[in-house]
Amino acid sequence: MSKEKNEENLMQKIVSLSKRRGFIFPSSEIYGGFGAVYDYGSYGTELANNIKSTWWKAMVQKNQNIVGLDSSIFMHPRIWEASGHVGGFSDPLAECKECHFRARVDHVLEEEGVFADEKMTEKEINKLLIENKDKVKCPKCGKSNFSEAKNFNLLVQSNLGNFTGNWDKKPTYLRGETCQGIYVNFKNVLDSTRVKVPFGIAQIGKAFRNEITARQFIFRKREFEQMEMQMFVHPDNAMDIYEDWRNKRWQYYLDLGLKKENLKWHQHENLVFYAKAAWDIEYKFPFGFKELEGIHARGDYDLTQHSKFSGKDLSYQDPKTNEKYLPHVVETSVGVDRTFLAVLTEAYIEEKLEDGSERVVMKFPKKLAPIKVAVFPLLKNKPELVKKAKEIFENLSDKRMCEFDDNGNIGKRYRRQDEIGTPYCLTVDFDSLEDEKVTVRDRDTMKQERIEIRDLESFLEKNL
Ligand code: ATP
Repeated sequence: MSKEKNEENLMQKIVSLSKRRGFIFPSSEIYGGFGAVYDYGSYGTELANNIKSTWWKAMVQKNQNIVGLDSSIFMHPRIWEASGHVGGFSDPLAECKECHFRARVDHVLEEEGVFADEKMTEKEINKLLIENKDKVKCPKCGKSNFSEAKNFNLLVQSNLGNFTGNWDKKPTYLRGETCQGIYVNFKNVLDSTRVKVPFGIAQIGKAFRNEITARQFIFRKREFEQMEMQMFVHPDNAMDIYEDWRNKRWQYYLDLGLKKENLKWHQHENLVFYAKAAWDIEYKFPFGFKELEGIHARGDYDLTQHSKFSGKDLSYQDPKTNEKYLPHVVETSVGVDRTFLAVLTEAYIEEKLEDGSERVVMKFPKKLAPIKVAVFPLLKNKPELVKKAKEIFENLSDKRMCEFDDNGNIGKRYRRQDEIGTPYCLTVDFDSLEDEKVTVRDRDTMKQERIEIRDLESFLEKNL
């Protein structure tokens, strides 16, 4: 059996399997699609849920000093002024004068090996664009004829509450990141739980950005989901706690089944003025190493801004020492969708089998597999087999996601389950009616063993 990870076309294969097997669909497909927006299908929803519950367990369940939050997508518009998003949350956009394609210029420059820092002003970006005029090619038509770049704000506006159409009123926004909901609830959490600094608030939720580049599948979506944890710490401990979280988050990805050689640290060199340190964990996606998670030491910027803009004192008083101070923030921030794509990339394997045939198998870690067990009656037209298989399905599905499949020959059913990464397939055959055993087939080794029906629950408890 030879294992292959054919890097070539890997992205296309993943996109096609995702659609064919109900992991990911392009949004609004019957209407011609809707750029950079995607829907999760039945197996995709299960996988995304498993990713979220694994994160929640690692962050909230296993840490006594981290509590959860579910804040709203809509918030007071002033929050986005305080955070700096209204003024500064933008990417440089230029239009190709030949084909009118709108491109994110820093990315186009990067493709040509010209590094454009994310903090550059419009003027600086345009200078780079002019200096590299002949090099910089339109990703769509290949010509080198761009307009001047303009900063394009990424916040998505809405007309929530604007019943009169009176646009003098300030616009509201769909949140551009989940952590602002955490900062503005800092006092509420402090007053309603028994947490003391250092403590964290964790949240999973949707965020929206008017991303210019609508490529790279679910890596860059306009509606996406973030899993963020903000730890509020004493300024003197901030860097130790920061280092601790860097280590924990690295280990988390190894535990998630991502291989060490596919992970890499990237340090931000030019920090924004308030940041104390910023590192990203990058993953080797089919299009190269790119950011998966950001781990940032943000100083007291966030609480300072919200104190200033809201007029509320957000300082913390230490109950033991009575010291009053504004806590610093250590942040870990990752997208559900980017984790999803990393997990798909890692799991996708093409194997040549001994009989010369090939199989595609998604070797998800068992805890992430959308379906844990598939139950098959050997033949669908034998009521005794179907009845017994259904009984087993009923019992096992109390504790985990199972699938019942009686369609086609067993070999085909195995292939279908391999493609969605189901760790175990159980087959009820005629012997089962006599000996109360079923055949259990392992996804990875493809080995089969007979197990007593009454032992199935403990077998799965042990092996899943
Ligand atoms: P990038 O540089 O790739 O645009 P970012 O630095 O703007 O990302 P952050 O604002 O730090 O990203 O967001 C934290 C995390 O949220 C990212 O590490 C990523 O996992 C996820 N994320 C950000 N933007 C998107 C998006 N458009 N689609 C999917 N996930 C995203």
